[in-house]
Amino acid sequence: MISLKEGSPTWPMFGAIHPRLGILLYEFVDMLRMNGVDHVTITSLMRRKEGDSGIHELGRAVDIRLDFDHELAFALVKAINEKHPYSNNRPEMRTAIIHATDAYGDNGTHIHLQVSDE
Ligand SMILES: [Zn+2]
Repeated sequence: MISLKEGSPTWPMFGAIHPRLGILLYEFVDMLRMNGVDHVTITSLMRRKEGDSGIHELGRAVDIRLDFDHELAFALVKAINEKHPYSNNRPEMRTAIIHATDAYGDNGTHIHLQVSDE
């Protein structure tokens, strides 16, 4: 089950996200489910965040609360990055990132998933 953080924009926002992000999100949720995590909270979808690149606003990034086993999170992030390179033109970029700090004023650690528009 996927739920949204309290106060977030609601489900119709999913209609505006990049198709590859939708697929990636469901793939990630499926991987979690296979590892016994059956509830996922999205903490940011298309919200504009102070100081970020604007990629959320473009519908190409989603944040997932890291309220499950951190070792599992690291393993899944690694698997996603091996399977889905962000962009051939930008090898320094990653598709999945763990944000371990509270850089944007959200509650705690989260996984940021992003897709390129290339
Ligand atoms: Zn993010």
